[in-house]
Amino acid sequence: MAERPYIVGNWKMNGTRSMLSEARAIDRASQRLMKVEVALAPPFTLIHAVHKEVQQIGVGAQDCHHMEDGAFTGDVSAAMVLDAGAKFVILGHSERRQNHGETDALVKAKAETALGAGLRIILCCGESEELRDAGNAENFVTSQLKASLPEIAANAAEVLTIAYEPIWAIGTGRTPTAEDIGSMHRAIRSLAVDLFGEESGGAVRILYGGSVKPDNTLELLAADEVGGALVGGASLTAESFLGIVLAAADLPD
Ligand code: PEP
Repeated sequence: MAERPYIVGNWKMNGTRSMLSEARAIDRASQRLMKVEVALAPPFTLIHAVHKEVQQIGVGAQDCHHMEDGAFTGDVSAAMVLDAGAKFVILGHSERRQNHGETDALVKAKAETALGAGLRIILCCGESEELRDAGNAENFVTSQLKASLPEIAANAAEVLTIAYEPIWAIGTGRTPTAEDIGSMHRAIRSLAVDLFGEESGGAVRILYGGSVKPDNTLELLAADEVGGALVGGASLTAESFLGIVLAAADLPD
């Protein structure tokens, strides 16, 4: 793993201000674990509060609208999350694709708007169990990425992270084998190089997500081309999230 491992917690629709103590504890411990880059994506309502509480870790949002502003009741723009303290936004998570009907084209439009506003993006991709069983996982994920990734004129590695999250592994306790993760990440790397060039595409971080826990972190992150993890359930307490961060700190340089 060339870069520092990047460990991002996605709190999803969890957290009120009572959870700020978890963010503080994660931040404090991360100050002593500089071998790992740590970030949290709390719900919109906590972005500003988490941003005010932490010094070391990155803070991001879990979504943003594809338009810059306007009559979109209940929606939140890229400029708004940036103003609240977010530096990045997670886009194209399978829960948004499934529960909100987000298409590849919409994810791409959101990505372009977010980059235009000055946010970095973590763009998610991943196959269903049926596609995996049918042997179509790599074809599906690379096509999904081709249709969802924005065009990036500058250095893609500075603004883009890709998260491979097989849908069947999210929140289920099941994970792909390290070989399957490595093979998918190599396919994603090769696509990134095709799209963004050898240097930039070769340096884009590719995270694995799906049932990452403290006790499987080392094995999952040691897989080929894995640059870190996107963590859902296990990011909700400082104890379990820091278990993952500590394991990532043990990876060989
Ligand atoms: C996620 O939803 O991004 C995720 C990886 O969830 P979990 O870690 O709970 O599987």
